[in-house]
Amino acid sequence: MTAYSGASATGSSAPPTRARAVVDLAAVRANVRALRDRAPRSELMAVVKSDGYGHGAVPCACAAREAGASWLATATPQEALALRAAGDTGRMLCWLWTPGGPWGEAIAADIDVSVSGMWALREAVEAVRTGGRPARVQLKIDTGLGRNGCAPDDWLELVGAARAAEAEGVLAVTGVWSHFACADEPGHPSIAAQLAVFRDAVAAAERAGLAPEVRHMANSPATLTLPESHFDLVRPGIAVYGVSPSPEIGQPADFGLRPAMTLAADIAQVKRVPAGHGVSYGHHYVTPGETTLALVPVGYADGIPRHASGSGPVLVGGKWRTVAGRVAMDQFVVDLGGDTAEVGDEAVLFGPGDRGEPTAEDWARAAGTIAYEIVTRIGQRVPRVYVNGPGHSD
Ligand SMILES: *Cc1c(COP(=O)(O)O)cnc(C)c1O
Repeated sequence: MTAYSGASATGSSAPPTRARAVVDLAAVRANVRALRDRAPRSELMAVVKSDGYGHGAVPCACAAREAGASWLATATPQEALALRAAGDTGRMLCWLWTPGGPWGEAIAADIDVSVSGMWALREAVEAVRTGGRPARVQLKIDTGLGRNGCAPDDWLELVGAARAAEAEGVLAVTGVWSHFACADEPGHPSIAAQLAVFRDAVAAAERAGLAPEVRHMANSPATLTLPESHFDLVRPGIAVYGVSPSPEIGQPADFGLRPAMTLAADIAQVKRVPAGHGVSYGHHYVTPGETTLALVPVGYADGIPRHASGSGPVLVGGKWRTVAGRVAMDQFVVDLGGDTAEVGDEAVLFGPGDRGEPTAEDWARAAGTIAYEIVTRIGQRVPRVYVNGPGHSD
């Protein structure tokens, strides 16, 4: 898999941009290796849904493959088909189906399709009967998340129907899998309960004659902290990008992980204003004294949470500043106090933290959300710039 989408140049020939999300592909590779070390007896399925959590699905998928991810996963079939179109030929799973979905295309592309109920199994079987190759189907059991997945009461019916279709040669059941509700809260009683339901579901599938290649449950927090959940493969997403699933799990560095994305923008204006000057819509910030304001040219259209108005942290000139007043669609302001800056100086919103910049976790706290949302929501107007891509010696 060699195709890369989006910006890849970082040399002096690249035109300057207002803002950029620099994605360190060496960090992605190192994170995948660190996760494989955590689950040494399991394969690794790198989750690259939602454009690789905002980092760019194709470059991150390539990096994950290079570091030994034998599987990729996406939510939608369209995301999986896009990876095939970019040249990926390895094992791949997608799970978020609705009636009338592209079953035939996914099956033809040798993508494992997840089935959580009878309607989905019927659509997969129908796609094969109308001229497809046998489908690779993974059955998903809801072990307690209460979201996608077959209810335990319906499991035997689904398993029986899948086994019958398998016996006919229409499909192969390649996996049985599930997803945790609270793996990011170590010790939560639902974790052991879900594991018990999963083991029963796997046993029931085997009694019905199924012999899945892979059984899997572990998302990032479970990959990091719960070896008994690793089964045949682990399925981390956020940790691939070097972000911790939750403060309770720990800091990325505790696990040898490094945040891959650095979000920065070039200051677009610097000006002196008197005391008592209102700043941004609604004048929710009023300068406490004569001061210098700097304009940071990214806003909620770029994924900067408006909920971080008055609280989001930004590194300017080596110091942490705070968003002054409201985050607007395209811009926000920071108060530099007694300091100044030049137009064109870099404002770093978040990164790995080792240059003193805030992290995605800091923004999550400021906006009352999780770091997953901070990185994933960065908008398409912000170019992704890839560094340490293929050929870089790790
Ligand atoms: C998003 C997702 C994952 C990855 O979760 P992380 O917490 O990012 O590791 C795994 N499995 C399913 C079903 C998901 O939706």
